[in-house]
Amino acid sequence: MSAARSAHKGNKAALPSKPCAVCGRPMTWRRAWAKNWDAVRYCSEACRRNRSQAEGPVGTLHDNA
Ligand SMILES: [Zn+2]
Repeated sequence: MSAARSAHKGNKAALPSKPCAVCGRPMTWRRAWAKNWDAVRYCSEACRRNRSQAEGPVGTLHDNA
């Protein structure tokens, strides 16, 4: 039995991460995003829905002034 095994093996810091486009929270790479990590912009479904709010309403610019 070899009792001397390297303690640090997990390279979690090597995982890519980027801020959510809506809430700005850092989201860490997930295996589920492996195929479309480049297209992922939101940390959660809630943020994806909030995207429209972040971009601002569209179509209601003509308010009676
Ligand atoms: Zn978010």
